[in-house]
Amino acid sequence: MGYDQDNIFAKILRGEAPAHSVYEDELTMAFLDVMPQADGHTLVLPKAPSQNLFELPDEAAGALLLTVRKVAAAVKQAFAADGIQLQQFNGSAAGQTVFHLHFHIIPCHTGRARRRHATAMADAELLKQHAQQIRAALGSERAR
Ligand code: AMP
Repeated sequence: MGYDQDNIFAKILRGEAPAHSVYEDELTMAFLDVMPQADGHTLVLPKAPSQNLFELPDEAAGALLLTVRKVAAAVKQAFAADGIQLQQFNGSAAGQTVFHLHFHIIPCHTGRARRRHATAMADAELLKQHAQQIRAALGSERAR
């Protein structure tokens, strides 16, 4: 099956569905996961319509990894995380549920359990606040 232009992330990229955006440039976008495994759980996407890592155009790969690193550093700072876990699923057999390539950035704290993948919707006001925290951390990084 080919890329579905109406998947939820395609709609967010076109501005047709809402998102708590934290970062955007010419080739990539990052916004909060609405069913976070931990506070600050963020998704990073290429704008290129790719279902998974194998469909990502070579010329978009570098920009995607740079955005993952940049946003992960900001999430780590904003949530005083002890570590950052990256997740990236390719195909439903691997756990993928939205078929536009994305990396999960999940802040981890020693001794704190994470919530289960894509189960409970977070409060919209809380997500708004968390997005502001990450944007502020991105701003302070840029100032360095
Ligand atoms: P995956 O299983 O890797 O495809 O993960 C898809 C992720 O997208 C899950 O963690 C969901 O919680 C998240 N998600 C689904 N719909 C939305 C949405 N509208 N905005 C933000 N995150 C979403």
